[in-house]
Amino acid sequence: MKKVIILGSTGSIGTQTLEVIEKLEEKYQVIGLSCGNNIELLKTQIEKFNPNVVSIQNKNDALKIKETFKNIKVLYGEEGLIELASNSEVDIIVIAVSGKIGLKPTIQAIKNGINIALANKETLVEAGDIVMDLVKEHKIELLPIDSEHSAILQCLQGNSDSFINKLHITASGGPFLFKTIDDMKKASISQVLAHPKWNMGKKITVDSATLMNKGLEVIEAHHLFNIDYDNINVVVHPQSVIHSAVEYKDGSIIAQMGFPSMHIPIQYALTYPERVNGIKTNSFDFVKCKNLTFFEPDYEKFPLLKLAYQAGKEGGTMPLCLNAANEEANSAFLKGQINFFDINYIVFKIVENYINIKKPTIEEIFIEDNIIRKKTIDLIFKNFC
Ligand code: NDP
Ligand code: MG
Repeated sequence: MKKVIILGSTGSIGTQTLEVIEKLEEKYQVIGLSCGNNIELLKTQIEKFNPNVVSIQNKNDALKIKETFKNIKVLYGEEGLIELASNSEVDIIVIAVSGKIGLKPTIQAIKNGINIALANKETLVEAGDIVMDLVKEHKIELLPIDSEHSAILQCLQGNSDSFINKLHITASGGPFLFKTIDDMKKASISQVLAHPKWNMGKKITVDSATLMNKGLEVIEAHHLFNIDYDNINVVVHPQSVIHSAVEYKDGSIIAQMGFPSMHIPIQYALTYPERVNGIKTNSFDFVKCKNLTFFEPDYEKFPLLKLAYQAGKEGGTMPLCLNAANEEANSAFLKGQINFFDINYIVFKIVENYINIKKPTIEEIFIEDNIIRKKTIDLIFKNFC
């Protein structure tokens, strides 16, 4: 029986992870859960999965949970997430929180020798070099949940990394693929959140509409698979059937495909390298699937994708700057403080004026992250509020 902890169990990836675990029946035991504000859903999850320990974002909510569930350990705040990630009993920890809050617990888990199923892409964007060095040093397994990276991992099985020529990362194109820049400038929050293919948390859905999500994924792929940015190609594929592909030196391309479903990559990260009969997804009918189309990304409509390549190539703290500025601009858009297209302007402005630290320590990463977020918030208040 494998013991699992899920950080962010009330979110889109967290709830789907629990659905997968239910279908894996007796093989997996949930020993820890965590949530942000949705304590009602956490209560239901505690009743169903009976964990030993939970962590909640704020102290008052934690006290409420403790009153109801006297026999479990209740933690709170970032410290609570870090303590969960230090649990020596666990076999695999699923990092399914959204945004920068994932970084410290991930580092903690690696240092404790715990295998990780990583959904939180911001962690590798902010501190990919340091995280991947720690993964090697502590000899843990870090398995991607993001569907494109899971696809690449699946396409790499049985082949040496030295045979790789290129990675092809697919992008659905989001809700504005066939819209104009003018449409994007007028877009409401609900239009931005209406993703045509994937039902996800709000932050990543906004990132999918600017294609920043794809930019973050390019940086994530560079770190996970140690591939140069020039050998990572993004291709827009609106049907989201091919989840990504590896092109080998002999000209063969191996792609991973299926209907869009996060259950498959989540399950693969939990059961890797095995493939098991778990949660059922619709079976794919090649004959019915008549149109698989592919386009080059439009960098005028989606300039953040290009900026992500540039930031990734510069390395150091530049990707951190890109991510922190984007996270703050994304949040300001969701609060109604700025328009959708302003996200591009804000991220560009912060990145353009940023002085990169080439080989940051982890302490410098945390310090820079705070400075960049403060600068971004100041810029938003001065220009938009
Ligand atoms: P959601 O917003 O749906 O879920 C985020 C989870 O994190 C929730 O459980 C939330 O709690 C919790 N949380 C948020 N802030 C805090 C905090 N400060 N302290 C503790 N817990 C917190 O996000 P997703 O599930 O969509 O995404 C999670 C991560 O996975 C992101 O990094 C995303 O980029 C990545 N990812 C997601 C995919 C998807 O299909 N959704 C696909 C590929 C990657 P609560 O809801 O209780 O407030
Ligand atoms: Mg993805």
